[in-house]
Amino acid sequence: MPVLTEPLVVLRDTFGRIADDLRISVTDRCNFRCIYCMPAAGLPWIARDEVLSFEEITRVTRILVSDCGVRTIRLTGGEPLVRKGIEELTAMIAGLDQGLDIAMTTNGILLREKAAALKSAGLSRLNISLDTLQRDRFRNLARRDALERVLDGIRAAREAGFTKIKLNVVVMRGVNDDEVLDFARLARVEGYEVRFIEFMPLDADGIWSPESVVASREIIDVIDREFPVEPVHDLRPAPANRFRFRDGAPGGVGVIPSVSDAFCKVCNRIRLTAEGRLRTCLFSLREHDVKALLRGGASDGEIVEFVRAAVWQKEEGHKIGQADFVKPGKTMSQIGG
Ligand code: SAM
Ligand code: SF4
Repeated sequence: MPVLTEPLVVLRDTFGRIADDLRISVTDRCNFRCIYCMPAAGLPWIARDEVLSFEEITRVTRILVSDCGVRTIRLTGGEPLVRKGIEELTAMIAGLDQGLDIAMTTNGILLREKAAALKSAGLSRLNISLDTLQRDRFRNLARRDALERVLDGIRAAREAGFTKIKLNVVVMRGVNDDEVLDFARLARVEGYEVRFIEFMPLDADGIWSPESVVASREIIDVIDREFPVEPVHDLRPAPANRFRFRDGAPGGVGVIPSVSDAFCKVCNRIRLTAEGRLRTCLFSLREHDVKALLRGGASDGEIVEFVRAAVWQKEEGHKIGQADFVKPGKTMSQIGG
């Protein structure tokens, strides 16, 4: 099995950035209805035959890894664990190259059932979304009474051998911003890295407003007053600014200032949606139909050229807060966060 050989081409854009991180949405479906993402009634799901098959996803991934220099993969959705056979897809991708780093973002509710199989399939890392530690609040936020199952899912992930688990917390003003210190405490006790994400205008219900965003600086200030922290410097471009506890406590905290100080300037990401479209930005207003090529008999070389041309046109960055900002017509769950 190859170990990340030199690519034929690199996916460069007009701003000099190189895309080597691929996020794959394996489904647009979800068993939660988080208020910052989906409407209570759900969304019209993509028809099953329009969703990329495991073979199609694996083919695109192989081309992007071996020919175009993609180095990290994240499986997401919708909720990736509701896609039947997700562990098989994970194994198929892991089988492409033993040097690949494969991560998953999940709401965690099915981890008790799936964690061990995912570990054996070759999944390297897990980010588990958890926005509150309070049961009633969880029910209101995810519109499911599932806090206990998610906490148990996190335990199951540890038992299965996942280390360095990251918890994703979307912080919303007046909703869960009073729990920042509780999450920092949890990080210290359990050794998790807790990542606080700024709320982005990708929700279905239109509840986002500039006032609903809690800036990352404010979050770190709150934590630093109680548990002094110092920055950790990453070698690769990363959307999160990470901090460790100065007193040597385990775990850490990170902030993703997606609104107040976006990582666009060094963004190395591209996204493949569940229906096989390539997106060069979360906030893209256009998508590139890779599925049409896959199903139209295109060669690997043609797909490489198509992706290369798409990435070349990658947006400079999102325009949240600017007069010409246009909210994409899709929610986070439909894009693949
Ligand atoms: N269902 C999985 C989950 O929730 O972890 C994976 C898909 S979800 C769309 C991926 C990540 O996007 C989650 O961490 C979620 O909290 C985050 N997210 C969803 N909507 C968001 C929004 N409007 N602003 C910021 N983050 C959001
Ligand atoms: Fe589902 Fe994840 Fe969106 Fe919540 S954030 S509704 S769990 S896709």
